[in-house]
Amino acid sequence: MSEQTNIKPGLSAASNANADGRKRIAIFGSTGSIGTQALDVIAANPSLFTTEILTAHNNEELLIEQALQFNPNIVVIGDERKYTKVKEALAPTDIKVFAGEKALEETAAMDCYDLMLAAIVGYAGFRPTLKAIESGKAVALANKETLVVAGDIIMRKAVENRVPVIPVDSEHSAIFQCLVGESRNRIEKIILTASGGPFLGRKPNYLVNVKREHALQHPNWNMGAKITIDSATLMNKGLEMIEAKWLFNLRPDQIQVVIHPQSIIHSMVQFEDGSIKAQMGLPDMKLPIQYALSFPKRIPNDFPRYDFKKVSNLSFEEPDIKTFKNLGLAIEALNKGGNLPAIMNAANEIAVFAFLRNKINFLDMTDAIEKTMQNVAFIEKPTLEEYFESDGEARNFAADLIKL
Ligand code: NDP
Ligand code: MG
Repeated sequence: MSEQTNIKPGLSAASNANADGRKRIAIFGSTGSIGTQALDVIAANPSLFTTEILTAHNNEELLIEQALQFNPNIVVIGDERKYTKVKEALAPTDIKVFAGEKALEETAAMDCYDLMLAAIVGYAGFRPTLKAIESGKAVALANKETLVVAGDIIMRKAVENRVPVIPVDSEHSAIFQCLVGESRNRIEKIILTASGGPFLGRKPNYLVNVKREHALQHPNWNMGAKITIDSATLMNKGLEMIEAKWLFNLRPDQIQVVIHPQSIIHSMVQFEDGSIKAQMGLPDMKLPIQYALSFPKRIPNDFPRYDFKKVSNLSFEEPDIKTFKNLGLAIEALNKGGNLPAIMNAANEIAVFAFLRNKINFLDMTDAIEKTMQNVAFIEKPTLEEYFESDGEARNFAADLIKL
């Protein structure tokens, strides 16, 4: 049985705030699917939140538009070639403009905000998130890859710095919500629900021919490209199992996945008396984003409500790991631990990138990940540097394999 979750609801992210009581938010990845929805939440609650930092990688147009609307203290554009354009567009304001990868880390360490929404996609989000934690900032974590790469180090630093890591991922938000008031009670297991993605029920002879456009059509959620492909391969659920292990301090055998195509139950916790708590609602990321920003409080909203009278069926089934082999690979990485999740994550990022550019087919992604996991040297207890090196090695190996 596991020890209690690493998250201490007593360590409220609300404890720091502006002189006027408003929580100062830094959105890393503000131009993405999570980032833009977070700005909708902030815009709807001007008495609760201010926007202090916004960051983007390529999309300078949207970053400029967001900056003019939300008037943050700082914006960062990842791609340094776009610095001048952003700087000129914001010259009439007193918004500070920075560019480049290093600037992301430096601003993450600044004093001007209370809570980081970590909404950059992929490994690129790791260093700024780590920096925020080292600087004692509360983190609302969407960027699951950070925990997949080095969850042990991230959670250890969070505990050392008394930093709450509040999940944004809908499944983990559901579990987090189920655990409120349960800090003395042991978790027997958690049940992560998965929609099954657009290819639920399909077999490999079908998957071999699916194209990018088809894989990008998710039945229930409208998300960024990378996570949408991860949902179609079920790698997303594998990443989420590893994310759950670190967030809630669980053993691999305490984490179960069940396919629930309607995405109404966002996940469940089973306690040691057999009682199961579920968190439910319509699939809408604004709810877990809002909860993470306002935690420990709930704030009213007018999002559409789930109506039990209208929906006839909530169904559940076993995931088909023989067909969706990425989930099996992720379970292997979860069980073996060490640097294997980081290796898998890096290979997956390269494979998804290649698939999105029509360089490989859907099933080739699994091949590339599997071979990379077999070939990059295993380290049982990696240091932070070794995690970085494993990530780089795995990226190179996978890219060579795919001939990128
Ligand atoms: P998007 O692709 O929509 O957005 C990604 C954001 O990160 C954009 O702001 C993008 O900037 C920025 N970015 C991309 N690459 C880099 C880089 N190399 N350096 C710095 N910034 C970068 O992703 P999502 O919003 O869908 O996902 C964000 C994270 O949240 C992921 O880890 C995902 O797994 C997780 N998540 C997402 C959910 C969703 O519903 N979307 C649900 C649960 C978790 P630009 O726009 O300029 O390229
Ligand atoms: Mg999720």
